[in-house]
Amino acid sequence: MDTLIAIRNLAKTYQRGNQDVPVLLDVTLNIAAGDYVSLMGPSGSGKSTLLNLIAGLDKPTSGSLKVGGIELADLSEADMARWRANNVGFIFQFYNLMPVLDAFENVELPLLLTGLGRAERRERVELALSMVGLGDRMDHYPNELSGGQQQRVAIARALITDPLLIVADEPTGDLDRQSADDVLNLLDRLNQELGKTIVMVTHDPQCAARAKNQVHLVKGELMPTPGAH
Ligand code: ADP
Ligand code: MG
Repeated sequence: MDTLIAIRNLAKTYQRGNQDVPVLLDVTLNIAAGDYVSLMGPSGSGKSTLLNLIAGLDKPTSGSLKVGGIELADLSEADMARWRANNVGFIFQFYNLMPVLDAFENVELPLLLTGLGRAERRERVELALSMVGLGDRMDHYPNELSGGQQQRVAIARALITDPLLIVADEPTGDLDRQSADDVLNLLDRLNQELGKTIVMVTHDPQCAARAKNQVHLVKGELMPTPGAH
């Protein structure tokens, strides 16, 4: 299969005051188009840092990170923002919905950056919210929805622009088991039915086992996956 994400000798060091905080030391990894990868590791091992680099939210200190052949570090801030808007859907632990917008408007938001007309936006938002089982909750505000429902709105928002890549950072971390299962079932469908490439950070082995492949990050480096040959 084609490689979508090619990471070579990637390093990331944060600066705090005049101190260096090395977080990713030397990460090399390929992720194929259509793959569904879970990124595991202890708290503080650099999972969110790596995910944010892959999603173009931050830039590496050194090394190479290409997504769809584009070296993200070479893009200007403006080009990177445009690249993210067109190519990446985001799912966060705490949903990150806008509290003053209802479910419909939250899902529509990424489409306002595209040239789509109102009627087509409506059609797509309704389809996405139906897919996540919230066709009857479109005019509900986030505080009128359960955590699981809010995360399903966030999933609809992540897929609305038909992105190449979906990144999820502890998407079930704040949910009960049933709601977590609903979210994981939806991620399966995005991967299997819509062919989306997914990278999901989690420290929950049960959750990680739902992905097609697992990688483990320990102290800023990838460890061989237990059981892999
Ligand atoms: P994980 O998601 O695996 O828990 P993170 O990638 O969030 O880990 O963080 C890894 C390490 O990097 C932690 O020690 C954290 O304190 C540090 N870190 C994360 N973001 C920053 C930042 N913006 N500035 C300085 N240090 C940071
Ligand atoms: Mg994290």
